[in-house]
Amino acid sequence: MMTSFLFYLLSFTWGLPVTLAGGLCAIAALICGAKCEKAGRCLLFRRGKSWGGFSLGVFLFVCEDADGSVLLHEEGHSVQNCIYGPLMPFIVSIPSAVRYWRRRLGKKKPRRPYGSAWFEAQATRFGERLRRGREENRRA
Ligand SMILES: [Zn+2]
Repeated sequence: MMTSFLFYLLSFTWGLPVTLAGGLCAIAALICGAKCEKAGRCLLFRRGKSWGGFSLGVFLFVCEDADGSVLLHEEGHSVQNCIYGPLMPFIVSIPSAVRYWRRRLGKKKPRRPYGSAWFEAQATRFGERLRRGREENRRA
């Protein structure tokens, strides 16, 4: 698993474009009165009800009722940003947002489960790996 040092180094170099976009959203969220918390290695902003969440670099934005699995999934997207860097918007963020809105606004019930897109499944897997790593640290 990626060390914290590498995570921040990559988030603020190779992954800087998305991290900067996240920083702007974080400022907007603070202006709108969202509270900032720490979630794993990321900063978390909660706002609104039952809409899910999204991740921009080290910044996570989720609804107030988001549970731990949503947070881990969004944290998984932050790890993806370290890997894909400037390609992240094109191969993950934009497709993920389009998919989200299509599913949300579509009249038909989506046929395929949310995790069937490779980038969503990978984010969940990365989040799961973070959770396991933390549990092992706690036990050690
Ligand atoms: Zn996702």
